[in-house]
Amino acid sequence: MYPNTYVVNGILSGQCNSAVTRTRSCALRIELLLAAYFADESRIELFAQRWNIQLAGKDKKPQPLRNPLIDPDGPELGDDFLALCGDRNRRFVERLRAEEGAARQDEARRLHRGKHPRIGVLAIQGDYSAHAAALSETGAEPCEIRKPDQLSSLDGLILPGGESTTMLKFLEKRGFFEALEEFSKSNPVFGTCAGAILLAREVRNPAQRSLGILDAVVERNAYGRQIDSTILTAETELPGGPLEMVFIRAPRIASTGAGVRILARRDGDPVLVRQGSVMAATFHPELSTDRRVHRLFVQIVMGKIETGKQDR
Ligand code: GLN
Repeated sequence: MYPNTYVVNGILSGQCNSAVTRTRSCALRIELLLAAYFADESRIELFAQRWNIQLAGKDKKPQPLRNPLIDPDGPELGDDFLALCGDRNRRFVERLRAEEGAARQDEARRLHRGKHPRIGVLAIQGDYSAHAAALSETGAEPCEIRKPDQLSSLDGLILPGGESTTMLKFLEKRGFFEALEEFSKSNPVFGTCAGAILLAREVRNPAQRSLGILDAVVERNAYGRQIDSTILTAETELPGGPLEMVFIRAPRIASTGAGVRILARRDGDPVLVRQGSVMAATFHPELSTDRRVHRLFVQIVMGKIETGKQDR
């Protein structure tokens, strides 16, 4: 029906060939080679079916693949093809098949995390469980972090509110502080209230050590004592109208560097800022029901997973 060599050559030289190269799919390449090697029309038909390719006649161009080959639900190199390989090639093909399987699993994980990123919440002290609940509501997978070696499994991290001095004491043990510095170089980080203090370049009132990830000077307890904590509703740069902001013994962002975008203010002072993939809020978005702030952070994390690049 189809001249074998023409079809195989056509497929190899057509658009699907570039798809094969792009996706590094071993399975498809092996099937093509085997189909050509055995010059077996029914194999080619089966192959075309499996990979969703329309076979071309002499006068037609090969059609592009409809399924991306890296689709984790797509077909795998079949046992029927393996059986054709003969003992000599079998081991080689089996190895390639194992590689293909691992690549598929990685891809499935990447696709899953692209939609449900794994976001850690530093769970030493403070209101970390409210952040975890807020993250779940946005579709992310929250994970409470208590040890530095847990950071490696994360796509992003939230440093919650609480008492920054208490958190700092804990972080300065067992290399946690240094691990956070390293993590934030290649992953999105969001600090709220005490978390924002930990992220700042400089902390005042009194001065204390900080990670220096956010180009800002932050003044602790700048709005008065605990009793002066307040809830405001104000316009922000986020779409969707005014945002409720819960302030609890909040710090004040006294100044910001040129790369810091101010997304919301209180009496002229920045209260929600973003510097590439670093976000900070001096209020507690996790204590309101509005999820726009968490959603923005989750979007930043998803952008990083998709492009593999850190937006800094
Ligand atoms: N006052 C706390 C500090 O300085 C921050 C308060 C909070 O996180 N709600 O660390």
